[in-house]
Amino acid sequence: MSYFSNRCPHCEKGRIFRGIVRMNPACTECGVRFERESGYFIGAMIASYFLGVFLALPTLLAAVFAYEFPMSQALVFASIQLLVLQPFLFRTSRILWIRIEAALTRSIHR
Ligand SMILES: [Zn+2]
Repeated sequence: MSYFSNRCPHCEKGRIFRGIVRMNPACTECGVRFERESGYFIGAMIASYFLGVFLALPTLLAAVFAYEFPMSQALVFASIQLLVLQPFLFRTSRILWIRIEAALTRSIHR
């Protein structure tokens, strides 16, 4: 099991995403709802922020210090990189959030 797998964390069979950014509301195999309550994915937004910083910061630093671009251009490069990676960040952060929540719930109820 990978933390980034598109499989349901409860049964490991159903898919979380049915498209690049389109989610199934519930697992097609075991029926567990992925969005537990309204606002559930706010934690995924925080995860997406840190993933974005983790991916954009090396680009920014390399552009400024290795290639000596001005900071304004380096910010444009990093922004373009984040725009291109947005589907990946959206998907990965939601999968990560669902898996973290499932792991915490399992450890609490044991
Ligand atoms: Zn399932």
